[in-house]
Amino acid sequence: MTAFKQFRVEPDQKFRLKDRDPADTAGFKSKKEANAKERQAEGIERLRELQERLYAYDRWALLLIFQAMDAAGKDSTIEHVMSGVNPQGCQVYSFKQPSAEELDHDYLWRTNRCLPERGRIGVFNRSYYEEVLVVRVHKGILAAEKLPVELVDADIWKQRFKDINAFERYLAQNGTALVKFFLHVSKEEQRRRFLARLDEPQKNWKFSLSDVKEREHWEEYMAVYEDMLARTSTEHAPWYVIPADHKWFMRMAVADIVVSTLEKLKPEYPTITEEKRRELEAARKALEQEEAKA
Ligand code: ATP
Ligand code: MG
Repeated sequence: MTAFKQFRVEPDQKFRLKDRDPADTAGFKSKKEANAKERQAEGIERLRELQERLYAYDRWALLLIFQAMDAAGKDSTIEHVMSGVNPQGCQVYSFKQPSAEELDHDYLWRTNRCLPERGRIGVFNRSYYEEVLVVRVHKGILAAEKLPVELVDADIWKQRFKDINAFERYLAQNGTALVKFFLHVSKEEQRRRFLARLDEPQKNWKFSLSDVKEREHWEEYMAVYEDMLARTSTEHAPWYVIPADHKWFMRMAVADIVVSTLEKLKPEYPTITEEKRRELEAARKALEQEEAKA
């Protein structure tokens, strides 16, 4: 497996979103040439094994964060990549507009209650990063957050980046490994996918007029994404910009990166102590004797 390192946003390096091509397939000409199906199946199997070890090891948790424009394929990528994992070892949370109760707290409050336990993989479908994305594009949302006025000034985004970095560092230092994915779809591919939602009756339910209206803010979104990616990609919580125009490639790349992240954690099955070994031996004897008696 190659962990698609070229998609990482390197900390403290100049970063331009325009340099990343949403249609990139890392040199593979087609799904077939990339053996995408087989690789994906292999990746999913490997992920299943690693997740079992992670669970048995019970030291690390893994948090995967997904951010994207609408129709980039967050839901289906999460579904595919996690498809082999024991559901008891994985928790997926989707973050929508905050409720009235959530707005009565700081913005990390709702996140804290959804963090994965040791041994588990947590997936955030959107996250506290919305606080430096949609909230930055639509100023009215910030106004509704009920922050004391003296705390809202031009520095607020810088402050949020700083706080998020500190929060993620804290998590990492307490045994939650983090990986963040921006599924990078082009405006044209999004248009095609919205049209498909109109054309195909089974996809109609996914269509939302407000998603189409949000396209008017495309350039603003790209600018805030770029700033966020540049300022919050760190050694302990890196961002990966995954080209999302080809779904087969996106899924393969995400699976690959999740696998290599888990491998780095080196989850091990607990070693059996001498005492435990004796206990197992005694249990075996008792069971075998039962059979002999029958
Ligand atoms: P899908 O459309 O595939 O069901 P989705 O993630 O787009 O999934 P929606 O219910 O359509 O879900 O949208 C959720 C909306 O909530 C998004 O527009 C997102 O920007 C918004 N949102 C999420 N977190 C916040 C936040 N902290 N403040 C304001 N808006 C937020
Ligand atoms: Mg939506």
